Amino acid sequence: MRSVLLDLGGVLETGCWPGVAEVWAPRLGITTEQMLAAVFGGSDETVLVGRMSEDDWWQQHVRRRLSISRTTLGRLRADIAARWSWDEQLLGYVARLGSRMRTAIVSNAWPHTRARLAADGVADLFDEVVLSCEAGVAKPDRRIFELALGRLGAEPGRTLFIDDTPGHVAAARTGPHRFPARPRPRSMPSSPPRELHAGHWYRMGRYSGKNRQPDPHVA
Ligand SMILES: [Mg+2]
Repeated sequence: MRSVLLDLGGVLETGCWPGVAEVWAPRLGITTEQMLAAVFGGSDETVLVGRMSEDDWWQQHVRRRLSISRTTLGRLRADIAARWSWDEQLLGYVARLGSRMRTAIVSNAWPHTRARLAADGVADLFDEVVLSCEAGVAKPDRRIFELALGRLGAEPGRTLFIDDTPGHVAAARTGPHRFPARPRPRSMPSSPPRELHAGHWYRMGRYSGKNRQPDPHVA
């Protein structure tokens, strides 16, 4: 194994949603489903793939849908930022990989993510950071995997892909540049390191693992 692609929401980042909705929906007198729909409805085709700025999304869509003031919106966004939390154990594992493996984050993410990764010192741990809002394409579209593999100079057959969304894992296993199923080399361990059991893991055409609650904000 020479390279590893890691998801952000639900794998490296473990906070935010749906916790935010569970706190804020009662405050706003709506259900958590309505809250999530107000924040994320239509975002996959706009802010997630860089077709709209994040500020415009919040101000023009979310604030109107929720009928809240700019001040309340500011508090909501600050609360989301405060709830962001890292899987420190997994980050520690990535840091210890050093130069033995090429590493990349591959995330369906909104534009604020780049600044957050830099501010928290996480971006420096990875060789590449591929975000859907910058790439213009999001998982499960295979082009985002191919972009990451290309930047790393990585071969699919020697790359581990870790994601908590089964559909994204399935997408990585299909197409002309799929992560192919091959016999496992003798030097490879039979299971991934303990730290990598965060969500679904994929290697050499197989995946398994537990499915955490998906985080629609950073998937
Ligand atoms: Mg995820």
